[in-house]
Amino acid sequence: MGRRRKRRIVPVKVKKGIPKVFRCPKCDSESLTGTLIHQGVNGEREYVFKCGVCGFEETVTVNKNQQTVDAYNKLVDMMTGA
Ligand SMILES: [Zn+2]
Repeated sequence: MGRRRKRRIVPVKVKKGIPKVFRCPKCDSESLTGTLIHQGVNGEREYVFKCGVCGFEETVTVNKNQQTVDAYNKLVDMMTGA
């Protein structure tokens, strides 16, 4: 019996879908998570941001080339009333 399987197929971990933590624009806590919740037919992405401290919640839509951090930047712009 010597069927050693040296190579194990390890599933590639994609970063997509893992919530990232940002600074909440409302209460300034490091507890705002951004999660991709929807991707439209045009590739546009919808992210929801939720703060675990103050309960702040906002949905941001960005285009297909943008990531969670871009959505976060957009959220901050919205919050600061740029
Ligand atoms: Zn907050």
